[in-house]
Amino acid sequence: MNWFETMAREGHEQLIFCFDRVTGLKAMIGLHDTTLGPALGGCRMWPYPGEQEATLDVLRLAKGMTYKAAASGQDYGGGKCVIWADPGTEKTEGLFRSLGQFVASLGGRFITGPDAGTRSEDFVPAARETRWLVALPEAYGGSGDTGPVTAFGVWRGIKACAREGWGSDSLAGRSVAVQGVGKVGAHLARYLVEDGARVVVTDIDPARSAAVARELGVEVVPPDDIYDQAVDIFSPCALGAVLNDDTVPRLKCRAVAGAANNQLAEERHGDQLHELGILYAPDFIVNAGGLIQVVDELQGFDRERAFRKVSRIYDLLGEVFRIARRDGVPTYRAANTLAEERIATLAAIRGPYVPGAARDGARFPPAAGRPAGR
Ligand code: NAD
Repeated sequence: MNWFETMAREGHEQLIFCFDRVTGLKAMIGLHDTTLGPALGGCRMWPYPGEQEATLDVLRLAKGMTYKAAASGQDYGGGKCVIWADPGTEKTEGLFRSLGQFVASLGGRFITGPDAGTRSEDFVPAARETRWLVALPEAYGGSGDTGPVTAFGVWRGIKACAREGWGSDSLAGRSVAVQGVGKVGAHLARYLVEDGARVVVTDIDPARSAAVARELGVEVVPPDDIYDQAVDIFSPCALGAVLNDDTVPRLKCRAVAGAANNQLAEERHGDQLHELGILYAPDFIVNAGGLIQVVDELQGFDRERAFRKVSRIYDLLGEVFRIARRDGVPTYRAANTLAEERIATLAAIRGPYVPGAARDGARFPPAAGRPAGR
């Protein structure tokens, strides 16, 4: 894999390999685009088959964060970290302290927190090494797990899909298949059941699906059967690239809306969904709840305010559907346009150089045409 070619094609700024021989830490940090502000994005821990898969994932995830922050109106750029290790067996204090030191070395250019495979508590040791962390446990001054607020946003997004598809956002009598009942999916299943939907769930960890079934009385199916469910909405809440050549032809749903990042294996799968008449709710619009929570935390956390902001995902998704209808394009393209236009506008209006006003106290004035503070 030629990483510089990939970075040039996808617009990435920086890719950092982090290795610590004592703790065994192998992590990659991807900083995609910091036009709008410091890169903000979670830290995933996953036993990738190889370093190529891990590196590709961090690049894809970092780019997604740029679009998520831009589209949801945040002044942050996109970044992400992956730790190449098994979250079930390889978490140690040393590993997270070592990670904290690498994050510290970036001096605030990258701010991180939990993601798939990591939890708020995992970052407590890292907080002894760096202040550039969000979503630490509330007992440590953070805003805590972002799973519940992300689930709330996905539920609001699913309601927006219902309004677009069936003219009413009531989920009474609608059916939803939830793939993955971890920190987000389990809360989402509860919102859906409380809203009157029939819910079917799956998880590769049978204990998790069994716990949700016990609590909510929902049906459980084996992981691979989730794509074949005849439901109104398919909600991917596990990992990315689940909308691909193998799965899209199997879908029997009328809309896709879930928490997972990078659901489309390739953009052409978004075109394929469009051609099949399946309404796709772009992932970075629907799953912005966690990001909105941690940005609120950086501004002084107020949980109620954060939920109010996340509730607006309903309107933002409505706007994406409106642009898609107006321009006759698939919804993923409409969402990309929304994000790219905001970045371009803000980059342009930040252009003029004002002596002494460089936002980060830069010693040298920004080069002509570059946004102040970059
Ligand atoms: P998590 O690790 O807590 O949960 C993921 C769940 O999916 C786990 O229970 C896992 O066993 C299951 N899973 C993995 N592969 C599966 C498969 N093939 N089939 C069925 N189940 C499978 O992660 P999470 O925090 O709930 O996040 C879920 C997704 O949403 C991730 O893609 C994450 O990047 C994204 N996301 C999370 C947040 C957040 O606030 N936590 C915010 C935005 C996006």
